[in-house]
Amino acid sequence: MANPNVTENGQSSALIFLGTGCSSAVPNLMCLIQPSDPPCHVCSQALSIPPERNPNYRCNTSLLIDYCRSDGNHSYILIDVGKTFREQVLRWFTAYKIPRVDSIILTHEHADAVLGLDDIRAVQPYSATNDIDPTSIYLSQHAMESIATKFPYLVQKKYKDGQEVRRVAQLDWRIIEDQCEKPFVASGLGFVPLPVMHGEDYVCLGFLFGDKCRVAYISDVSRFPASTEYVISKSGAGQVDILILDTLYKDGSHNVHLCLPQSLEAVKRICPKRALFIGMTHGFDHHKDNEFLMEWTKREGIPVQLAHDGLRIPIAL
Ligand SMILES: [Zn+2]
Ligand SMILES: [Zn+2]
Repeated sequence: MANPNVTENGQSSALIFLGTGCSSAVPNLMCLIQPSDPPCHVCSQALSIPPERNPNYRCNTSLLIDYCRSDGNHSYILIDVGKTFREQVLRWFTAYKIPRVDSIILTHEHADAVLGLDDIRAVQPYSATNDIDPTSIYLSQHAMESIATKFPYLVQKKYKDGQEVRRVAQLDWRIIEDQCEKPFVASGLGFVPLPVMHGEDYVCLGFLFGDKCRVAYISDVSRFPASTEYVISKSGAGQVDILILDTLYKDGSHNVHLCLPQSLEAVKRICPKRALFIGMTHGFDHHKDNEFLMEWTKREGIPVQLAHDGLRIPIAL
């Protein structure tokens, strides 16, 4: 029988986790410049194990969707471009032979999601006069306004009289609605925006995508509005194959993110076929905490693991 994950020419779409860490990333700098006694095990590992072999080395959350169309051509869709983007390209674009970025989607405008935008020029064709096709970038109106302040030179279209041309990333800004009912298409793949609360005063977007396998990606969330949870729940619009979900700390709670107890509760309610956690601080030890999650999985019947930077999951989209 044909493998539904593979196209006729033997190629497959894939999810590549470019980053699975919190805003300050892991290792935590303070753990290294002012080590505790005994030192933090997770952070001190970063001094002896190279990042590509250290699942406790976590850059800012970011996902690359390698979308293989039915004709075998690939599109590369990047979700978020954080502070650590350059490092993530160096490590994982090279390892997985990702030649370019075809479109970009932003969850929100916080530093860990957008501060790498300047480096997009490094993954675009070289033109001293900026005479290249811009990369489409999808974002909310709120994110657009914030980025126009953070990066005016990436948004400005017309040159002022006498202004020198300087090479900058070329982006085609496309506003999306923060409503589940307003899907959009990026590089041929459909996305449903999933508005979630990221603190009670802030709406962040997650995204639901894929026809054959449905993937929900929610990197920054403290609470699910009922209408959003319905769209991704087994008891609502239908079970998702993979839920990729925020979990900041191992214990307790936080005002703008889910922590492990709330993330596990959300997994039970939403009931995906499989869940992967992202956004972790140095409080998580990959192997040790995945053993705990294996026990949870046996008990609850939903496979849940911590993702890690560089994780690649072949998938039919
Ligand atoms: Zn630490
Ligand atoms: Zn944020």
